[in-house]
Amino acid sequence: PPTRTPLMAGNWKMNLNHLEAIAHVQKLAFALTDKDYEAVDVAVLPPFTDLRSVQTLVDGDKLRIRYGAQDLSAQDSGAYTGEISGPMLAKLNCTFVTIGHSERRQYHGEDEPLVNAKVKAALKHGLTPIVCVGEELAVREAGDHVAHTLRQLDGALQDVPAEAAAGLVIAYEPVWAIGTGKVCGEEDAQEVCGAIRGRLAELYDDAGATAQRVRIQYGGSVKAGNVAKIMAQPDIDGALVGGASLDTDEFVKIVRFRD
Ligand code: PEP
Repeated sequence: PPTRTPLMAGNWKMNLNHLEAIAHVQKLAFALTDKDYEAVDVAVLPPFTDLRSVQTLVDGDKLRIRYGAQDLSAQDSGAYTGEISGPMLAKLNCTFVTIGHSERRQYHGEDEPLVNAKVKAALKHGLTPIVCVGEELAVREAGDHVAHTLRQLDGALQDVPAEAAAGLVIAYEPVWAIGTGKVCGEEDAQEVCGAIRGRLAELYDDAGATAQRVRIQYGGSVKAGNVAKIMAQPDIDGALVGGASLDTDEFVKIVRFRD
């Protein structure tokens, strides 16, 4: 199978203004070495208002840190007050954009058709979607977590061709593990991540070629102390890190999960 470079992405959520963002990225860049970047792709996902500052810093200092946004509009432009478009993010050289984060689903009513439209909008403008899927606690307790997560995946990928899908990142984030300190056991995480890759192999009928290229992240209370076990699972290719990504030392340790 093709080797998938691990992707460690820091979702800052609604934290750090643009000045704090500059200080944080500078600190991170100072700590990371060429050896780190050879082994792992490292990305930060700051609030929209930080992106121009992060771009200037990354370009000016030729940093190898990638960056992206936490959401985008499904529309390219027009009368959509408060929205930020794919072309705007592409112009800022964003690599990634998270789509369908559970906080967007919960607080902004994002559903499968909207997530699907946003995935297509991102792809159209050369952005790599990090598509977030995962179940709430009640769904896991009912034993429906795999089916639930695969339904979200199917919805997100409706009419997305294989070539585009191969470049995607899927983040499995059990909602009950996000920001709670309750990390999902590595075997439970692997169960769902393995099922996601299995579904990709069904959706893209190409002997698993697409499924083997897609990077699948785990997200939910990832810390330096639990990342190694999670990364040892065969279908987990990285982590989407919330709280711990705001602490430089902790995030650097996560990047160096092999040490
Ligand atoms: C997230 O926001 O995607 C996340 C996983 O948060 P945390 O690491 O804080 O649980």
